[in-house]
Amino acid sequence: MRATRIVLLGPPGAGKGTQAQRSTDRFGIAHLSTGDMLRAAIHAKTSLGRDVEAIIAAGKLVPDPLIVAVVMERIAQPDAKAGFILDGFPRTIGQAVTFDDLLHRQDAMLDRVIELTVDDTILIDRITTRARQARDRGHAVRADDNHDALKVRLAAYHEHTAPLVDYYRAQGILVSIDGLQPIDAVTQDIFLAFGEQAI
Ligand code: AMP
Repeated sequence: MRATRIVLLGPPGAGKGTQAQRSTDRFGIAHLSTGDMLRAAIHAKTSLGRDVEAIIAAGKLVPDPLIVAVVMERIAQPDAKAGFILDGFPRTIGQAVTFDDLLHRQDAMLDRVIELTVDDTILIDRITTRARQARDRGHAVRADDNHDALKVRLAAYHEHTAPLVDYYRAQGILVSIDGLQPIDAVTQDIFLAFGEQAI
């Protein structure tokens, strides 16, 4: 069977994690969240973790070559052979171009890029709520889920990641979905982008 390769684009708080998990379950592919991978490296105190800890806490982007290497190593693992949904990568045109090039060398390409659109005022609300709920439940709050880091993360999204929308649209693989809809409706739209009915 052909592998399914999906990129999920969207600003912080757009619901990428939730939707990626649903697509993972539906399509039997791996959920690759670069943020989760980097946070795991920080937690495990690896040299990668030490290199990225301060950058992530500040809400800035880690260098392109470093994150591309992390992703290429991850997609080579057996559980990603049937395909993957990338959540949080690529985040710059440089990452996207290098990734396309490396995939082509493996005779592979992306099938779809799903963009979740949500405006900034709502994102700030969603993320502050996410942090408060985590705190209320006694869970760890992400080091970058605070007002200052969030401003930097949103600025990084607009400056570096938003241009990917045009880049993938030009390739004819972009599908934009209104991320303000109820969660199930967003899932439905994502599945429809693959010609499948949802629930
Ligand atoms: P996320 O969980 O996707 O919001 O990512 C958390 C943080 O990890 C980001 O704010 C960046 O510091 C870093 N990060 C994750 N993915 C990337 C990427 N593709 N390029 C650069 N930095 C990244």
